[in-house]
This record gives sequence, C-alpha cells and structure tokens, in this order.
Amino acid sequence: GQGLFYRDTWVEVDLDCIAENVQQMRKYLSNDVELMAVVKANAYGHGDVQVAETALKEGASYLAVAFMDEAIALRQKGIVAPILVLGASRPEDVNIAAQHQITLTIFQLDWLEKARKLLNQNANVTIHIKLDTGMGRIGIKEKKELQALESIMLEDSRFKIEGMYTHFATADEPNNNLFYNQQLERFRTMISWLDAMPRMIHASNSAGAMKGANAHFNAIRFGIGMYGLTPSLEMEPHLPFPLKEAFSLHSRLIHVKQISKGETISYGATYEAKEDEWIGTLPIGYADGWIRKLQGQEVIINGIRVPIVGRICMDQCMIKLPFKVDVGTVVTLIGSQGDEKVSVNEIAQRLDTINYEIPCIISDRVPRIYK
Ligand code: PLP
Repeated sequence: GQGLFYRDTWVEVDLDCIAENVQQMRKYLSNDVELMAVVKANAYGHGDVQVAETALKEGASYLAVAFMDEAIALRQKGIVAPILVLGASRPEDVNIAAQHQITLTIFQLDWLEKARKLLNQNANVTIHIKLDTGMGRIGIKEKKELQALESIMLEDSRFKIEGMYTHFATADEPNNNLFYNQQLERFRTMISWLDAMPRMIHASNSAGAMKGANAHFNAIRFGIGMYGLTPSLEMEPHLPFPLKEAFSLHSRLIHVKQISKGETISYGATYEAKEDEWIGTLPIGYADGWIRKLQGQEVIINGIRVPIVGRICMDQCMIKLPFKVDVGTVVTLIGSQGDEKVSVNEIAQRLDTINYEIPCIISDRVPRIYK
C-alpha cells in the first residue's frame, strides 16, 4: 500500500512500465533462458518489494540483490522466490543465508573453508560461483582455485552449486566489442574447467542481454532496462525493443510571491531578479538527493519548462514561474507533463553521470507512490 506522508514531494513509480519492460525482455529471450530481476539498492530507488512482485508476475524467476541485508528485507516482506546475493557475504553469516534460503555468490577458497566450519550440519546453502573474466572486481581467475572449490562442494552436500557467472565491463559499448568478446571467450573457457555443469550459467546484464542471444546462456540479469532506462546513450538507437521509463519525481508549490527587480533569492544571494518576477518555492532539496549542482535545471509547471533559480537548500528550492501560479500546483522535476518531458537521462547528463545514479540518489525521505 501507499504509506501516509505529509509532504508535497513524491516519486511516482509506474509499475505497468516495469511490467511491460519485463514482458518485452521475456519475449526477446528464448523459453529456456531464465530472467533474473535485479532489485538491489531498493530496486534502483524504485521500491524493492513492489518491483520484485511485478517482475515475478511477468515471468522473472529469480531476484538479485547486492547484499544479504537486501535479501533478508525481501524475505521479511513476504517474497519467497529465489534470491541471489551478487556481492560478497561473510562466511560468518552462512547460517543466516541458509535459514532464509538466500543464494550466495562465492569466489574464494578461503571463504568456503571458513563457511564449512561454521555451517550447521543439517543446513543447506545454494551457491553461485563468480568468475572474473575482465571486470577486475570480484571473481575467481585461477583454474586450480575453481576446481578446488568445485570438488569440495561436490563432496560436501550442504553446499549446492546451482550457478556460475561473470559480469561484463563493456557490454554497453555497441561500437567496441573487442573487450566484451574477450570476456565472453574467457567465460566459455572457464566454464569448461568444471567437472559438472551447474544448472544456471549467466553473464549478461541488461546491455549484454539486449545485444542479442550470444551471451544469454540460460539466465540473464535484468537491471537498468527493467526500469525503462537505456544501459548507455550509445545503445539507445540499438535497443531491440522500446523501454518505458517508470520513475518520475514531482512536487507542489508551497509558496508563490512576486519579487521586484534587484531582489535576490537563496543562500549567497546569487540570483538577482532582472525585472519583476514570480517565484515559487518547492519542498525538495539536496537532502532528498536533489543536489546543489541541479541549480539552473529546468522543471515543468503547467506544461512549461522553467529554471531552478538560486542555490538549492537542504529541503527547499526556488523556481522562476512563467506567471502567477497557485500554491499547490504540481511541478514535475523528472517525467512528463503536457508536451514536455525531463528524462532521467537529461538529469544524468546535466550532472555528468549515468542514468543509473539518478533514481538511486533520490533519497528515501521522498515517498514512493505506485501506479
Ligand atoms: N549483474 C551484476 C553482477 C551487477 O552488478 C548488476 C548491476 O550493476 C547487474 C547484473 C545489472 O546490471 P544492469 O542494471 O546494467 O542490467
């Protein structure tokens, strides 16, 4: 449900968009390829349980998060689907993983040796082995270590190897496939080092998955595309199906006033009216993730784009109004209003960053409402 909130700033998450993006990816994949919905970081700021339930309903069969804490939070919200933790978990926490039936990623022989001593005799834990084929982050690189891991787990039936995977560093660069192909080749080689093939072999994030079936193996990990955002601007013209952006950010005018030529706005008095102007105040600021670098960014009111003027404060900011507008009028900071749209990509470009970062940095002080 929608929790109660008492402020006039909110994120709207359109779950129909997420459903459509999952349906499109599901249609794009062959039937024997599993779709893993990546819902780490509160589903990239969209709401973990809401996105998880939507994705599962539309044909995702697995969820992925970064940390065990995120997996446990989903279990506590009633999610029973399998969940893979993509990041490192501590061997000391292996019994908690077993208890909640959380699938762990492992990539160190040391980890397994410690966990074997700690895991209860009658407990079971499901494992995906991570391989480093070029990302240089986490993952096994050596044949010896991989084979040792496998042989221990084939003997110790408490550890079930369900999957093996890797992660691409450059899958979102459509005009440069050299490194991507090297990683793919390396992955195929490393898979052949195993005696027994795990049920799930996966490599592709959204970008890898949307490049074609080459790296689908038997599962893909769908993150950014599920939220309707392109993995990179270069990929946008090459996407195999249209993506529907699910995230939008809105506020309402809480104060409207006319200022005279020469009057100034906000800290530092950096903005000075050049004529008599109408100014509106919005209850959103840098503590909401609407950071100070967004000064000058345009927002939409009554279907018209107008700029943020003066410095952005912790909890509020000011905009220049096109004319006198009523207190309570909706202002769209990200999303569409009338014929105008401020996309997540526009905000990302202004901040010199990637679209992934934008919904993640809109803080959890901003309530999420669902359509
Ligand atoms: N797989 C791993 C290991 C990841 O770290 C991530 C996210 O960064 C994903 C999959 C999802 O990637 P994307 O959001 O590009 O689809």
